[in-house]
Amino acid sequence: MVARPPVPPPPHKGGCLCGAARFSLSARPLAVNACHCNACKKLTGATNLLMLLGERAAFSFTGDVERYRRRADSGREIDVVRCANCGVRMWHEPLSAPDLVFIAAGTLDDTSWAVPASHIWAANASAGVVFQDDALVVPGQPARREDLMEAFARLYAN
Ligand SMILES: [Zn+2]
Ligand SMILES: [Zn+2]
Repeated sequence: MVARPPVPPPPHKGGCLCGAARFSLSARPLAVNACHCNACKKLTGATNLLMLLGERAAFSFTGDVERYRRRADSGREIDVVRCANCGVRMWHEPLSAPDLVFIAAGTLDDTSWAVPASHIWAANASAGVVFQDDALVVPGQPARREDLMEAFARLYAN
């Protein structure tokens, strides 16, 4: 079985490397998803991006940030938000879903509990990636974003 520590109570706080930019999610995340697409590999510098899906209304930040607007092959646009000083990418603001924010889990102050409940673009994953046996594994783009939320709700039903 996969070790899945309980989701700690909110707020979920985090920030960049230099400390100039800080953020807080004052609600329980809606999903914890790993994306293995090539864009996420480039954006993270790692082989996948582990992200929290959160409600934008519960999200706030302080500090100077810069936004890079990326257009995906699907035509959907997303703003990638970085610290203006150290350049660390902390979260994404999808233009197609203005009520959501995608937080890069590695920028949380407490990453100890973050285990993927779902994987997308899994067919593009690097060979060393481990898929938890209870996680939802989608070969490409999920048909519905709600699939990721349902996978998370199923695994963290406490
Ligand atoms: Zn910084
Ligand atoms: Zn991706």
